[in-house]
Amino acid sequence: MDWKKKIGRILSKPPLAEEPLSGHTSLRIGGPAEFLAFPQNIAELQGLLKLADQHSVPLFIIGQGTNLLVSDRGLRGIVVNLGELCPTFEFWDSGLKAGAAVSLYRLCQEAAHRGLEGLEFAAGIPGSLGGALYMNAGAYGSAINELVREVTTIDLQGRCRVRPREELNFAYRWSTFQAEETIILAGTLNLVPGNKNTIGKKIKEIQRDRRSKHPFLPSAGSVFRNPPAKPAGQLIEQVGAKGMTVGDAQVSLEHGNFIVNRGKATAADVLTLIAAVKQKVKDAFGIDLVLEIKIIGENGGEQRRR
Ligand SMILES: Cc1cc2nc3c(=O)[nH]c(=O)nc-3n(C[C@H](O)[C@H](O)[C@H](O)COP(=O)(O)OP(=O)(O)OC[C@H]3O[C@@H](n4cnc5c(N)ncnc54)[C@H](O)[C@@H]3O)c2cc1C
Repeated sequence: MDWKKKIGRILSKPPLAEEPLSGHTSLRIGGPAEFLAFPQNIAELQGLLKLADQHSVPLFIIGQGTNLLVSDRGLRGIVVNLGELCPTFEFWDSGLKAGAAVSLYRLCQEAAHRGLEGLEFAAGIPGSLGGALYMNAGAYGSAINELVREVTTIDLQGRCRVRPREELNFAYRWSTFQAEETIILAGTLNLVPGNKNTIGKKIKEIQRDRRSKHPFLPSAGSVFRNPPAKPAGQLIEQVGAKGMTVGDAQVSLEHGNFIVNRGKATAADVLTLIAAVKQKVKDAFGIDLVLEIKIIGENGGEQRRR
């Protein structure tokens, strides 16, 4: 039987067919997912993995879409959102365990409410815990890897494992998950008891600082990784690329390392802008900027699972 007929039998909640991913990314850009699936339990996720394997169908995990540029033609195959499978969290006096779909912001707020210290740096980093672990998200000199005790994953054969931090090869905006075909189901983080007021104050300061530096228009955060020499934003500003525009895509006037969507930008606009910025920086400084955002989808990029 055709996999497109089988998928409806695996999932108790009907998948969305030809769902525009522009509605599921912070940049508000992206063509349709052939199917966007919301598995309700592990058995349904395992069913999807088996289906993808048997029929050689591409399968991609999306978090909150805050680090993604999805191509205008979208993604064939199955895009999986874990929002309804991994939405819970629990805290204790020295840490937390949360499902991959829980937002980092929520965890940061909940930790502060309980007087637990460690996650303040993440105040204002959008996205899910799963996305943060995959990307090793960080800010203000800290990153999520410093807190990780272990991560629960499921592989494409449907086998679950609990993996200690030492196995995960975290580095700057890097985790072993970027080299594997693994799905993150949950993460356990170490936190320490602290002073509620101090934690709350630090979070407010960070939020205020971010608001003063980051654009309000839709974006996917930092486009490029920071090279060792200098922050990418500074290099981009120095070559005069701030404000450069292609269609409705613009290098943010507030922050050189952000590209914003001024309304109707397409992925093609953003890709053209990225290439132009890279070239300017290469010509001026001989530095090859490396992408931090993930470019995915048909004719778009490399990041397809399976
Ligand atoms: C305004 C703005 C500010 C930002 N500031 C920062 C910042 O300060 N620091 C920072 O590090 N980042 C920042 N980002 C980028 C982004 O928020 C982070 O990378 C975030 O961790 C991505 O999470 P997500 O759930 O949105 O993942 P997505 O964008 O949905 O996915 C990112 C990658 O993670 C993979 N992934 C997601 N969930 C899973 C899972 N459960 N299992 C396996 N793979 C998974 C996806 O397949 C994809 O390859 C910013 C973004 C925006 C829009």
